[in-house]
Amino acid sequence: GYRSRSAFKLKELDEQFSLLGQVERVVDLGAAPGGWCQVVLERRPRAKVVGIDLLAIEPIAGVILFEKDILDDDTEAMLLEALGGRADIVLSDMAANTVGHQATDHLRTMGLIEAGLDMATRLLRPGGTFVAKVLAGGGDGALTGALKTAFTTVKHVKPPASRKGSSEWYVVAQNFKGAAQVED
Ligand code: SAM
Repeated sequence: GYRSRSAFKLKELDEQFSLLGQVERVVDLGAAPGGWCQVVLERRPRAKVVGIDLLAIEPIAGVILFEKDILDDDTEAMLLEALGGRADIVLSDMAANTVGHQATDHLRTMGLIEAGLDMATRLLRPGGTFVAKVLAGGGDGALTGALKTAFTTVKHVKPPASRKGSSEWYVVAQNFKGAAQVED
């Protein structure tokens, strides 16, 4: 079985967009407890998979795991070294720990999504894919603009396994244009 219910969301996204069929290097941001890593390995047993989370993750054979904040200064270098080259896909199922105050939670979550996108633009190879959990419709103009600057195709989807009432959506951004196109 999978370690998370979230695993089914990635499976559905993979079925819809053929995300994982060819990948060789994969980054999983916010990987605990490891469900998405399991799905990736099942599809691509020989892929190099690197997962990172604030929380410790029980070892998964074939996956390199870091217990670390993605916002740390040395995270990017660490992930690149573990990958041994640029990533074909960066996955982010990250969610901020909510405090129950809606405006605060929204800002914290948006900050985390932006950090995920920033990290993706530093790790991906040109042509690569970024998948991230976003808030309601991902309709935030600035985020969508940044995604469209960096990727040729940007789609917002709600996988069937995602609870109907929840404000969570996923963006599937494909064909990374390459670091040179992205402003810092
Ligand atoms: N995709 C995972 C799976 O299938 O097992 C579930 C991920 S869970 C919904 C979101 C994770 O994001 C949490 O484990 C949380 O600790 C992590 N997270 C939140 N902020 C983070 C940060 N700054 N750095 C690393 N991980 C973070």
